[in-house]
Amino acid sequence: MTNSPQTDGIVPSRLDPATLATHFDDLYPDFDAHEARVAADRCYFCYDAPCVTACPTAIDIPLFIRQIQTGMPDGAARTILSQNILGSMCARVCPTETLCEGSCVRLTAEGNPVEIGRLQRYATDQLLLVNEHPFSRAARTGKRIAVVGAGPAGLACAHRLAMNGHDVTIYNRHAKAGGLNEYGIAAYKAANGIAQSEVDWLMGIGGIEIATGMTLGTDVTLADLQTRFDAVFLGMGLAGVNALTISGADLDNVRDAVDFIAELRQCPDLSTLPIGRHVVVIGGGMTAVDAAVQSRLLGAEQVTMVYRRNREAMAASDYELDHAATEGVKIITDAAPVAIYGEGRVQEIEFAYTRSGANGLEQTGETFRLRADTVFKAIGQTLEAGAIAVTLEGGKIAIDASGRTSLDGVWAGGDCAAGGEDLTVTAVQQGRDAAEDIHAALSH
Ligand SMILES: Cc1cc2nc3c(=O)[nH]c(=O)nc-3n(C[C@H](O)[C@H](O)[C@H](O)COP(=O)(O)OP(=O)(O)OC[C@H]3O[C@@H](n4cnc5c(N)ncnc54)[C@H](O)[C@@H]3O)c2cc1C
Ligand code: SF4
Repeated sequence: MTNSPQTDGIVPSRLDPATLATHFDDLYPDFDAHEARVAADRCYFCYDAPCVTACPTAIDIPLFIRQIQTGMPDGAARTILSQNILGSMCARVCPTETLCEGSCVRLTAEGNPVEIGRLQRYATDQLLLVNEHPFSRAARTGKRIAVVGAGPAGLACAHRLAMNGHDVTIYNRHAKAGGLNEYGIAAYKAANGIAQSEVDWLMGIGGIEIATGMTLGTDVTLADLQTRFDAVFLGMGLAGVNALTISGADLDNVRDAVDFIAELRQCPDLSTLPIGRHVVVIGGGMTAVDAAVQSRLLGAEQVTMVYRRNREAMAASDYELDHAATEGVKIITDAAPVAIYGEGRVQEIEFAYTRSGANGLEQTGETFRLRADTVFKAIGQTLEAGAIAVTLEGGKIAIDASGRTSLDGVWAGGDCAAGGEDLTVTAVQQGRDAAEDIHAALSH
């Protein structure tokens, strides 16, 4: 190892390979059968269980936990996957502390919920590991559906359509399927190639083709898809990023956090991935946290996350922010970037303190500067709808409760659609529900 966290500049190998391997390994180890039974024993199997209501995909949680408790993990997996076909990734990435576990009656009573996420992972991984697909297709209907995007929304939609007997072609911009499960989620939540294993397993249903490297708006048009297919589902996520419009934003090493994260996720050997010594991340959401934490895990000496509003307004959960603090990320709130300085490349960034005033957020007049060899921008992603003449709402595609857009025969779901939180599980739910509505529409 030639470099250390104190080496100046943007360099690889700040930490030795063994430390890097530990840092990017699974955040939580998998339960073994005994641990799973013990954890399952804590469930009260509530009638009208609040954990089910809190799950966007409405998994029958008490049923699957009962199945684990009685030694039937395969049955448990089927219960989960029948509602959420990406149940394995969701078990790893769902903010369970605000969803199912956050509403568990044992949390209210004892401050310690049933570990629903880890139990879900235990059950679903059993099937994934043996690559066994538990569902089969209905008789072929002869209907063909185009799905744009092979992220959680597109995959969930495609799987449910295929199950209902339709033939599906997915058009995906990236070379690999999986969407942000493959290119965005923090590496330590998706260790050991789980995102691709899950896609391969999901494809076991049959009837789904994925055309990778195919971008709607460039390689194929919506009008073309509408002509060639019986229905279209748009699940292309948010491919654009908000611009930072301050002086110095064009300096070298001022980067979009999502690009850094994608590069990290695709890097076969993290000891070759360069990282700065003084990293500043602008933003207060999950992307900002993931960029900051993973910079620290790569060995950056100082990582500071700066958000323009207060902590309560941050999109990242308390759990994520605590995790960032534990990993040594310094979090500064109520400060907005005003200028970036450097010669050719970034050397310093200046922030102004903010407060809420009569006309919204205002600067107090007091400023401070942070040394930075890298600035990651995590100030929000945007829809790249291109030339699609679809009605938008708040910059996203407007949909009704069934996922129908303003265009006949065109549905949408996931991050690109308005309403709902930008979470993997929400994307799965919207993709699945749109598929059922498409199926109903095509069955008449
Ligand atoms: C850094 C980061 C960390 C996150 N961490 C979490 C987390 O821990 N937990 C959680 O629940 N959520 C997390 N999220 C949010 C979650 O990843 C998304 O809500 C989810 O992936 C949305 O799924 P989707 O299918 O709508 O879109 P995406 O996952 O973005 O997939 C979109 C797909 O469409 C394709 N595509 C894009 N444009 C086109 C086009 N024009 N033509 C054809 N194909 C196209 C892309 O190649 C991609 O495969 C995170 C997001 C980010 C950015
Ligand atoms: S709320 Fe908690 S205890 Fe009740 S069924 Fe759900 S996991 Fe079990």
